[in-house]
Amino acid sequence: MQNINDIHFIIDACRGFSKKGCSNCVAPDKDLLARLEKIITDSPWKRFMAAEARSGLKPHEKLKISLSGCPNGCSRPHIYDLGFIGAVMPVVNEAGCSECGVCASACKEEAIDICGGRAVIKYDRCLFCGQCLPACPEGEIAEKKRGYRMVAGGRLGRQPRLAVDLGDIFSIDQGFMILNTLLQLHQKSFERKMRLSELLKDPESIKALFHANAGL
Ligand code: SF4
Ligand code: SF4
Ligand code: SF4
Repeated sequence: MQNINDIHFIIDACRGFSKKGCSNCVAPDKDLLARLEKIITDSPWKRFMAAEARSGLKPHEKLKISLSGCPNGCSRPHIYDLGFIGAVMPVVNEAGCSECGVCASACKEEAIDICGGRAVIKYDRCLFCGQCLPACPEGEIAEKKRGYRMVAGGRLGRQPRLAVDLGDIFSIDQGFMILNTLLQLHQKSFERKMRLSELLKDPESIKALFHANAGL
């Protein structure tokens, strides 16, 4: 695990973002940790915090971001204010599929059915781990989209809550827009002793706000 522990924010990243890497990682940006640190450090939010909380924030008040390279979630994104989870959306080339079923066996989520002479991906079950792509012996599963699933509003403490999945695969630029929205929201409503996750209680309004600000 790699970690940035600033006086106002924490970013934890799994091994997938390290030099050594992880074979499961499907995140497209290995330098995401450094890029996020720079965005936050240069942001109006950081200048605001430097004035409002000169000596730093208590651990429960800090902005917490987690980066996981795949849905295994080793850096626990679902208990952070914001989580980036590497994701790749598979698509089957129906014409070339030999109906061998290897992809269905490789999928831990039972998200692939073999029917009508081809493999069919059930996207409502798919976690976008990308494991089925290299499993296909015919090379007939391709990458339709690569980016990040994003989750927001998680926390531990006296009233723990899992973060809400924002329901798409976002590009890195959309992810940065979502982060900036969160920083603006926090700055606007900042109060000492307030946990940031208090601002992210209502799942539907979280999704609507972030989707609007990510340009979706
Ligand atoms: S979350 Fe995935 S990519 Fe990151 S260390 Fe765990 S298994 Fe590897
Ligand atoms: S991406 Fe992962 S979860 Fe989705 S169908 Fe492929 S193996 Fe299954
Ligand atoms: S592994 Fe490839 S060829 Fe076999 S069923 Fe899946 S998509 Fe078709």
